[in-house]
This record gives sequence, C-alpha cells and structure tokens, in this order.
Amino acid sequence: MIADLHTHSKFSDGLLPPAALAALARERGVQLLALTDHDSIDGCEAAREACAQQQIAYVTGAELSSRWRGQTLHVLALGIRPDDASLALHLGDLIERRRARMRTIGERLTRRRGVEIGELANKIAEECAVPTRMHLARALVQAGVCAHAGEAFADLLARGRPGYAPSEWPELGATVNAINAAGGLAVLAHPSRYKLSSGGLRALVGEFAAAGGQGLECSSGPSNPDTVSYLAQLAAGHGLLLSGGSDFHDPANTWNTPGRFAKLPPGGQLLAERLLPSGSH
Ligand code: AMP
Ligand code: MN
Ligand code: MN
Ligand code: MN
Repeated sequence: MIADLHTHSKFSDGLLPPAALAALARERGVQLLALTDHDSIDGCEAAREACAQQQIAYVTGAELSSRWRGQTLHVLALGIRPDDASLALHLGDLIERRRARMRTIGERLTRRRGVEIGELANKIAEECAVPTRMHLARALVQAGVCAHAGEAFADLLARGRPGYAPSEWPELGATVNAINAAGGLAVLAHPSRYKLSSGGLRALVGEFAAAGGQGLECSSGPSNPDTVSYLAQLAAGHGLLLSGGSDFHDPANTWNTPGRFAKLPPGGQLLAERLLPSGSH
C-alpha cells in the first residue's frame, strides 16, 4: 500500500489546495494520505472531503514545530482529533510564535537589507495564516531579490544569515504530549535532515521514544536506501513504528510528488497500519 503521511497544501507553505493535492495523490497511486501542514489543521476538512471524493483513505495530520537541545525539529501529528481543544491552543501558540518570528525577521532585514526587503517579511507576518520562511523565500524571488527559493535561504534566511531569527518552539516532550493528548501518533519527521552527529541522532531518537513518541519517518522524499534502512533499524531498536512520506509542497518539484519516497524496508512495523484499522480519522 502507498501511504503518504507527509504532505503540504496552501494552508501552510504548499502550493496546491487540498482538493488538487488529493487528486494528484490519487493519480500517483496513493491509497492513504495525511495532510500535514505546518502548525495548522485548517485544511483538514477540505482534505477529508477531497480524499472521500477521490476514494482514498485520509488521516488528519499536522507537522508541528518543536525544539530539542536548542535546535528546531519537526514532529508529525497523525490521526489527531481535529476538534481537540488543547490541540487548538497548542497550534494557536505556534502560529503566534511564527508571527512574532516573522516580525523579527522583518526588523532584521529592514536593518541589514533595507526597508523594501524588510516589508516583504512584515507583509507575510500580518497576512499569512501560517507565516513560514518559504512564503518569504517565494516573495523574495517574486520581488527579484533572489533567483530562486534555495538562494533566498542560502543568502538571507538560513541560520547565520542576515534574515535569520531563532524561534522559541515548545520542547520535544511538550509537542509529543500535545499530539498524544489529541489522540494522535507522534512521528519524528525527516531525522536525517537535522545537523546532528550519529551519536546526537541516536540520543534524539532515544529521547523521542522515551517522551512517548510512536514513529520515525525513515523515508522522506528521495532518500538514500542505506539511510532508510539505518533509520528503520534505529526505529526498531526503540520500539518506534516506521513511517514515510513525500513532504510534497510544489508540483514543479517532481522528486517529491505525492506518493514518491524511498520504500520502507519489508518486514518493518509500519505506522500506516496503525492508522488504518480505525478507518479514516
Ligand atoms: P519555517 O518552518 O517557517 O522555518 O520554514 C521552513 C520551510 O521552508 C520548510 O518546511 C521547508 O519547506 C522550507 N525550507 C527550509 N529550509 C530550506 C532550504 N534550505 N531550502 C529550501 N527550502 C527550505
Ligand atoms: Mn514546508
Ligand atoms: Mn519539515
Ligand atoms: Mn514538511
């Protein structure tokens, strides 16, 4: 079964509305889809309806910003109850932190790159439902400041660059608790994308499992098969279930179109199977 448990829509920094995402997922053979917008479940009703129309299974999800040892991490919340009140508070707090961070980015860019560039960030801080650096990267491209989004990150937005502002995301344990309290499974997203030594990665996965996390995203988009099998072993060693997803954002990026990610190793305990028995959440 193709279960894509990590995708984005226009409700955060993806480019497609949920209906178009579901249609593309169906076309690509996806049978179970989770919409996991950054820090938001606002697209989940539209995604649920679209998946029903496309006759694919759906789980409510989100990709939550979190922090461990001072570093930003992403944790997928899968199968959460969309009407959970404490989850709504957690998400509301994340959005406020995002808005505050984007205002700080605006101040920094104004100071170091001039008011016109700073204003691009201020506009995103005020107008986006989920203000992300990706929105700003696209605005910088559209304004002709950067040639492409990757350049916007490399020159201005990545850690250590003039438009970088750190964010005080909730600690990993608080993120996992919020997910579990809303009936969801917590999956540590794209573990190999963090700048960690191999000992650091093992420590992170151990602490994530100890904090109550359920799964590890062993395959994220076009992953190296050796990395996938290493992560699958690490997951199994900590009793974590295996998860995979495309991290789809943009149909122009054909390497991570919905359903496209490296295969999970056969014989592993799949998180997708835990999501299915209770039906589409
Ligand atoms: P944020 O969560 O606001 O920090 O925005 C991060 C989003 O920007 C991620 O979810 C990615 O979609 C994207 N992103 C982060 N770093 C890069 C990068 N170096 N190049 C391109 N996109 C990036
Ligand atoms: Mn993103
Ligand atoms: Mn992420
Ligand atoms: Mn993502």
